[in-house]
Amino acid sequence: MTPNLRIQGRDAQSNNILAGKAVASAVRTTLGPKGMDKMLVDSMGDIVITNDGATILKEMDIQHPAAKMIVEVSKTQDAEVGDGTTTVAVLSGELLSKAEELIMKGVHPTIISEGYRHAAEKCREILETITIAISPDDEAALIKIAGTAITGKGAESYKETLSALTVKAVRSIVEEEEGGFKVNVLENIKIEKRAGGSIDDSELVDGLVIDKERSHPNMPEKVENAKILLLSCPVEFRKTEMDSEIKITSPGQMQLFLDQEEKMMKEMAEKVIASGANVVFCQKGIDDMAQYYIEKAGIYAVRRVKKSDLKRLNKVTGGTIIQDLDQITTADVGTAGLVEEKEVKGGKMTYVTGCQNSKAVTVLLHGGTEHVVDSLDRALNDALHVVGVVIEDGKIVVGGGSSEIELSLRLSEYASTLKGREQLAVSKFAEALEVIPEALAENAGLDPIDMMVELRSQHEKGNKNAGLNVYTGEVVDMWENDVIEPLRIKTQAINAAMEATVMILRIDDVVASTGSANQGMGPGGLPDMPDLDMDAAY
Ligand code: ADP
Ligand code: MG
Repeated sequence: MTPNLRIQGRDAQSNNILAGKAVASAVRTTLGPKGMDKMLVDSMGDIVITNDGATILKEMDIQHPAAKMIVEVSKTQDAEVGDGTTTVAVLSGELLSKAEELIMKGVHPTIISEGYRHAAEKCREILETITIAISPDDEAALIKIAGTAITGKGAESYKETLSALTVKAVRSIVEEEEGGFKVNVLENIKIEKRAGGSIDDSELVDGLVIDKERSHPNMPEKVENAKILLLSCPVEFRKTEMDSEIKITSPGQMQLFLDQEEKMMKEMAEKVIASGANVVFCQKGIDDMAQYYIEKAGIYAVRRVKKSDLKRLNKVTGGTIIQDLDQITTADVGTAGLVEEKEVKGGKMTYVTGCQNSKAVTVLLHGGTEHVVDSLDRALNDALHVVGVVIEDGKIVVGGGSSEIELSLRLSEYASTLKGREQLAVSKFAEALEVIPEALAENAGLDPIDMMVELRSQHEKGNKNAGLNVYTGEVVDMWENDVIEPLRIKTQAINAAMEATVMILRIDDVVASTGSANQGMGPGGLPDMPDLDMDAAY
């Protein structure tokens, strides 16, 4: 057994803590509107420039198991709230760092874990007392929430357009549920990106937009009362795996062969036509000959549709996805009010609108270049999610480090009512929360010590909304400055950071196993140094 196949006790702990802290410090400089960007370069030389925590952590090639846990919580945060991904990683790093201080003093990790858990629970209670209720009809507030999520994502100059688009899109898919509202952004909002034109060419379409044109110009450009057939199978012959050869010895045979081929293509086309559909979306190819017959029947056909689009079409039009042409029945055909091809900046697209019993909408996003549209897309994604979350929960807190400072103060007051070592852990938790305003100040080039002193004193005076204006370096009322965020960002971030930290602290033995859990680790077993190096091989 090589020595690094097992790390135990203190070594295991400090090694894991170091790894967690390393991940946190990698994204810390990107936090907030003034955060720096990272340029991510993959092995093919492709680049992504972003300061979106989720994107950075997703793209980084991280090997250390404890570091991966931080990446996981950040991903969960992204899935649950769509924002606050940097916050959760930075907070985890700080909680680990504070825990390390306690371990040095001889406090057992189990005690720290219990204290942290207790503190996170208390945070939830305190947060409830500083939340502000928002009605789902309060459009102005929703626009501010979208704006806060967009800030710092390289899309500021488009903040107004993007926020308005976000709120319009989310409000159009709100579903009423008993006692509240449900917003399923992932399922009901499709973002279609197009490089070409400017953001002002972007639009919200009530229905689905598919980035494909009809397969032949002779097909109708517009089909009203569309009856839609969805195919995941090709309308052509599959190529054989092996090379095949047909020997033809006379011109007559050649004709026979071609006739036969045409006959089979005609049969395929007829199966499609017999469905009664006037629109066909096919995930695979459509043979030119088959297309000829389909076009003659006046059908609007689209080929090579993405699988994800086919799934959305299935949901929106009610049509079944057919895997075998022989299985088509007239009952499989879905419906839509209108299917038409439209010219947009940068090409033609197919619009499927007027779908009954469906909430699906598409945001058609335009931007000057690929990189611009990509960054708009990331910003829009965050904004759509947070607005959805606020409509569901109806609760917000103010940002700019304000809620973290208030929490920190109230939590340390609470800690003083506790006894023994638990008190130490809860106070450290309170201290750790200050990392958010601190990092916001640092990233804005402000003096974090001065800023923290001012913030604390304002909150002690009872200004619960006092936070950092990162542009002017002043401590101001964040509510009046329109920096507001969903309550769920904070509760989820605090809880997830606590869970990850506790999990890491409780490990005192790291063993290289042979099972699937060992995937992603180097051949040498365990990594002996936390390493964020992109290509690190152990
Ligand atoms: P995350 O991935 O955690 O959302 P961001 O880079 O989006 O990270 O930064 C979020 C932090 O920036 C939050 O603490 C939020 O309150 C703060 N923030 C956003 N907009 C502003 C602003 N205009 N002024 C001050 N702080 C802001
Ligand atoms: Mg954010």
